[in-house]
Amino acid sequence: MSTATGSTPNAAPADTRTKRIVVATELGYCWGVRRALDIIEQAAQSDGPIAPIGDIIHTPQVVERLRARGVQGATSVDEAAGRGFQRVAITAHGMGPHLSEQAATAGLELVDTTCPLVTKVQRLAQKLVRQGYFLVVYGDSYHPEVRGIIGWAGTSKAVAAKKIVDLPWNAPRGSTDPDAAMPPRKVAVVSQTTKNVKELMAFAQELQAMVMPLGGEFRLCNTICEPTSERQNALRRLVEQDKVDLILAIGGRKSSNTARLAEVGNQMGVVSRHIERPDEIEAGWLEGVDTVGVTAGASTPDDVIQLVVDTLVGFGYTAPEGGIRPVDPDYVPAY
Ligand code: SF4
Repeated sequence: MSTATGSTPNAAPADTRTKRIVVATELGYCWGVRRALDIIEQAAQSDGPIAPIGDIIHTPQVVERLRARGVQGATSVDEAAGRGFQRVAITAHGMGPHLSEQAATAGLELVDTTCPLVTKVQRLAQKLVRQGYFLVVYGDSYHPEVRGIIGWAGTSKAVAAKKIVDLPWNAPRGSTDPDAAMPPRKVAVVSQTTKNVKELMAFAQELQAMVMPLGGEFRLCNTICEPTSERQNALRRLVEQDKVDLILAIGGRKSSNTARLAEVGNQMGVVSRHIERPDEIEAGWLEGVDTVGVTAGASTPDDVIQLVVDTLVGFGYTAPEGGIRPVDPDYVPAY
């Protein structure tokens, strides 16, 4: 039987799908990481081996590349001195003031690659403490950036927290509960630069309700950096405008900002996978997927992103027009 238009009912429609890759407009190396790598590579090239303290970058492929150029990480100043290094470096995440003292004591030269946007938070933390605020750093307590900010605050009246239960208080000011641990009168919040603004606001709202009663003062300083916000907004556009069916967030396993990108994608209802290398992509992930959105964390280099795009092309997807993205060498975020 034919329909009025002559087509056969129940016949499978011809597969006219276009399988395509859409790359986020902002992704990969952020301004601060690019700057830090430039400084450290130039330092190694001009004056010989140098040891960054802690992970300079979370991408194993880049760590290998840097090692070949004389940049080899150490876990501490003592370890670097023991291995014969004459110079150590602070990474883009920054560190507390103790590091320059340790380097001076060990007789080592110090190269500071702290991102200026992190330095800004360190200075703000000092100022808030001087103004009498108890400082809450919204972020991961183990992260070097957060530990560095608390180090610069230089006070015991500072704490890192990601949830209200991480705080030393369990009740709003004015509570009559005999077991209540109440916040002090003045509390200020700054954020780790790579956090999600919506989650920061939800946290701050809850904390504000604990601090404000009985004349409490609460201050929220949004110190999430512009490149991080741009990456998260570009990811949202992949979902809302480009209607992607799957998101691949590329970055080292330990990269918290890559994990956050995948988290944001999943929260928006699109299956989002955090991958470190292209060979992790499974054919099964792509079943029924017309449009793959690609994003990458702040420490993911362009060549790793390109390899993922090439792998998707191998699975029959059309490469993004114009390549990964144009890099603006003159870009400097507002701060
Ligand atoms: S994520 Fe932001 S603060 Fe951190 S290094 Fe990059 S630009 Fe600087």
